[in-house]
Amino acid sequence: MTPFTYQRPDNAAAALQWAGVASRYLGGGTNLVDLMRENIESPQSLVDVSGLSKDIDARADGSVWIGAAASNSAVAANPAVRERFPLLARAILAGASGQIRNMATVGGNILQRTRCQYFYDQSTRCNKRAPGSGCDAVDGFNRIHAILGASAACIATHPSDMCVALAALDAVVHLQGPAGERKLALVDLHRLPGGEPQIEHVLEPGELIVGVEIPSLAFGAQSTYRKVRDRASYAFALVSVAAALQVEGGVVKDVRLALGGVAAKPWRAWKAEDVLRGAPATETTFRAAAEAELAGAAGLRDNTFKIDLARRTLVAVLGSLAGENA
Ligand code: SF4
Repeated sequence: MTPFTYQRPDNAAAALQWAGVASRYLGGGTNLVDLMRENIESPQSLVDVSGLSKDIDARADGSVWIGAAASNSAVAANPAVRERFPLLARAILAGASGQIRNMATVGGNILQRTRCQYFYDQSTRCNKRAPGSGCDAVDGFNRIHAILGASAACIATHPSDMCVALAALDAVVHLQGPAGERKLALVDLHRLPGGEPQIEHVLEPGELIVGVEIPSLAFGAQSTYRKVRDRASYAFALVSVAAALQVEGGVVKDVRLALGGVAAKPWRAWKAEDVLRGAPATETTFRAAAEAELAGAAGLRDNTFKIDLARRTLVAVLGSLAGENA
């Protein structure tokens, strides 16, 4: 591991002052420390922001504010989150292990990096780790890789479960940086790979995630998260679905949908939502919605099964929620 300096500021303004070109913000360290041990990342300084706001504020208007240093466990256990947005609590509890969820922060979870096995193996070609070197996953073992939004340069997926639920919930990320404060929809934070897979998000240098705001959603309680993976725990999603569904009189009044494990970012299923709104809450409609969303999906040697898996998981989750709402 390359030597580095370490600072632990007690407020965001101080964190911004410490942040430099070759520094990284450190949350719980559950991904970044691994990357540093493997020399995938070699920051010259770490700015430990795990002591900043951990507040989880259930607001009277139905929204919830979550400080970026709140642990994943604290968010999943929060009564307001569980009552208003059960899909978020379920998504977090589907990820990692209890110990890791205790350490991992919300800000760090959002900015965690792909678990593509070639990205972590210095003996292989990886455009994300070494831009321009190639991508050994394209012709290699690509069972866990992307079926939506991928490019010839990179087919990695974003590993977060939490972010899939936040994408479905129209979460807004609050940032502080050298140029001041701004807000960003979570769905606009991560980038698809294109020709520059090493650029994974739209944050400016030095910008710090200070919190996440989840707006009120009248039918947020009618929601769930389903994760399909190779083993029952401590595995990343092959496919996951975050969904909230409002059905009245047998018709879909409103819906929020996102997919995980399928792309380099949490994949908001806008096309499926468009098919669903105002349509009968039937399996035929659910299948049409899934077809619309997956129409542009493309698989490689080992991951083509994910296209049908995503379709079937989406239909099953919608059917389950519709049954509960009937
Ligand atoms: Fe690297 Fe992306 Fe290819 Fe994986 S899929 S080896 S992260 S370029």
